[in-house]
Amino acid sequence: MPQNQAKTHAGTAFIEGRYLPIAEAAIPIEDWGFLHSDATYDVVHLWNGHFFRLEEHLTRFQESMKGLRLNCPYSREQIGDILKECVQRSGLKDAYVEMICTRGQPAPGSRDLRTCRNRFYAFAVPFIWLANEEQRSRGLHLSISETERISPKAVNPVIKNYHWLDFVRGLFDAYDRGAETAVLVDGSGNVIEGPGFNIFAVHGNRLTTPASGMLEGITRRTVLELAAESGLEISETALPTDRLRQADEAFISSTAGGIMPIGTVDTRPVGQQVPGRITQNLMNAYWALHDDPNFATPAYD
Ligand code: PLP
Repeated sequence: MPQNQAKTHAGTAFIEGRYLPIAEAAIPIEDWGFLHSDATYDVVHLWNGHFFRLEEHLTRFQESMKGLRLNCPYSREQIGDILKECVQRSGLKDAYVEMICTRGQPAPGSRDLRTCRNRFYAFAVPFIWLANEEQRSRGLHLSISETERISPKAVNPVIKNYHWLDFVRGLFDAYDRGAETAVLVDGSGNVIEGPGFNIFAVHGNRLTTPASGMLEGITRRTVLELAAESGLEISETALPTDRLRQADEAFISSTAGGIMPIGTVDTRPVGQQVPGRITQNLMNAYWALHDDPNFATPAYD
């Protein structure tokens, strides 16, 4: 591959009003988004040249900014155009497209948040899978962490955030136990969410997923809609660790890969086969939606 092509395909970023190759993208070191995780973000994926559920991602991003009292220097329409431009310049057809709004930095000599000029960044890079091909076919090895997800009383989990040190701790514990990823628990010991994903358990014809205390994933929403259409019973309720361990099937959901099966929980196999029948049906329906114009927005003219 010619060198310039390789560069183009590595992705494109939008920083301070300029588009540039992802490898050259850098943020000011004094931005409180970096120094204090004072930021929100959203990720939409691009599949076959189309954004999936772009409007829902933009809405969630706007609500997150409002919740953190961030004023984005760009309108919703401009943000959509910037994402499209990042994609077009990258030339990617399947991509992970992120938009970020940070607090920026306060006026010189001040620590007053109200003096900050909030900043907007965006980038498009090749599609990211939370589980690789092998993991998707045999199911992820999941560990139930003893680490609690940061309390919703401290950080509102509905606002997509970079408060990930609990996840980082959970992940390292999971690696030490031979697992590939971790799901964290809430203050009552129920499984809640993992690094970049929501969680589902299937018992017979019933699908269970936590109701609150986690990010309300757009993929989670899609799963719930598809499940309702296919006549599954749905419980949005607390998911105790033992209930997950006894599931017939279990899976995670994320923009970074859609619906991905769990093969083992704390080294014990989940159900009889992976992916289970219900998981597989949901996966098929999920990917079929990517051809539906009600869900797919073209990124290329
Ligand atoms: N939970 C957390 C903490 C996440 O960071 C994410 C996505 O990044 C999700 C859940 C899944 O959300 P979505 O389906 O919108 O990607």
